[in-house]
Amino acid sequence: MRTIEDLDVAGKRVLVRADLNVPLQDGKITDDGRIRASLPTINALREKGAKVIVCAHLGRPKGEVKPEFSLAPVAERLGGLLGTGVSFATDVVGESAQATASGLADGGVALLENLRFEAGETAKDDAERGAFADRLAALAEVYVGDGFGAVHRRHASVYDVPQRLPHAAGGLIVAEVQVLKKLTEDVERPYAVALGGSKVSDKLGVIDNLLGKADRILIGGGMVFTFLKAQGHEVGKSLLEEDQLDTVRDYLRRAEETGVEFVLPVDIVAATAFAADAEHGVVAADAIPADRLGLDIGPESGRLFAGRLQGTKTVFWNGPMGVFEMEPYSHGTRAVAQGLIDSGAFTVVGGGDSAAAVRTLGFDEGAFSHISTGGGASLEYLEGKTLPGLQALED
Ligand code: ADP
Ligand code: MG
Repeated sequence: MRTIEDLDVAGKRVLVRADLNVPLQDGKITDDGRIRASLPTINALREKGAKVIVCAHLGRPKGEVKPEFSLAPVAERLGGLLGTGVSFATDVVGESAQATASGLADGGVALLENLRFEAGETAKDDAERGAFADRLAALAEVYVGDGFGAVHRRHASVYDVPQRLPHAAGGLIVAEVQVLKKLTEDVERPYAVALGGSKVSDKLGVIDNLLGKADRILIGGGMVFTFLKAQGHEVGKSLLEEDQLDTVRDYLRRAEETGVEFVLPVDIVAATAFAADAEHGVVAADAIPADRLGLDIGPESGRLFAGRLQGTKTVFWNGPMGVFEMEPYSHGTRAVAQGLIDSGAFTVVGGGDSAAAVRTLGFDEGAFSHISTGGGASLEYLEGKTLPGLQALED
């Protein structure tokens, strides 16, 4: 993969695909980790005299202009962090984008409006996506791919634009790939993986591949209930993927055959509703009441999980153990985060919400070996899939 060191960018318009998909609450950025992760590449290009045009997506506006998904607040925060004004284009490839791009001075920075306001960005149809990619590519002379969190998407800004412009990988992608190689090609054992979060069906896929690689797999978050159900327990109103029960049973059987250890919670924090102030309490994992839903792993499980991370040499963690955004259900996530730190292993945290959890729960980011900006992207890499955004940068 070429890096920006290999590019001649002085005085040129450089389109940087960044990942600025930050969590927002009432129009306010609640965690700016991804914006901060984009700074080194942008700054490196500015120092080389490039005119930097940043493009990114926010949420899922599905090809329509939806003001609540505007990148305007991100432009402001980006400018604050860079210590320079960021010109914000109020469209993606229209008049505002063109005027903004051509008006940049050497070392200047612009941000285009949310890529996903344009249906062409995510279109499955190659021609439709290609037509949008043509317009995006026309804004610049060089392309830098640095949006690691989106490299698993075959989207115009990720996959098609680099085929139209001289291109290189930004520093963030280079760093992320280096870490992922340590989790795939040369893993130090024992290797433990902790999985949680809410995107259950997405994440079950990674287990398939991990069964041949990890020594120990800890299961928390919303995924737990499909496992408990597969073992014959009732899970009340908890998150459940009925159609994945056979897959999960197959995983449990294969794990037993191959000697991979599955660690499942022994207790659960179960609540009457998905709310911080709902009535809640700790119950045994095999005795979740029919009218309750599990929103965190229990305290005994927190200790169990942290204990199973000790003595490992490598740990990958993706997905919060519970609904950490609500204080009563944040303790399992806290216990596992602390377990990673105490393990002394090479520790990688992947996933937008997992990274946000680490920060919002007050952990020092430096206590982990690496905090990845990409959840889906790192999981698909671990699954052994070809990532379109990396492939496009290789060619
Ligand atoms: P990541 O972004 O780290 O890959 P996900 O997007 O898969 O993680 O999941 C994060 C979300 O999972 C969090 O918002 C959290 O509230 C939610 N979650 C965790 N445990 C549960 C649970 N038991 N029930 C419902 N949601 C859960
Ligand atoms: Mg997420």
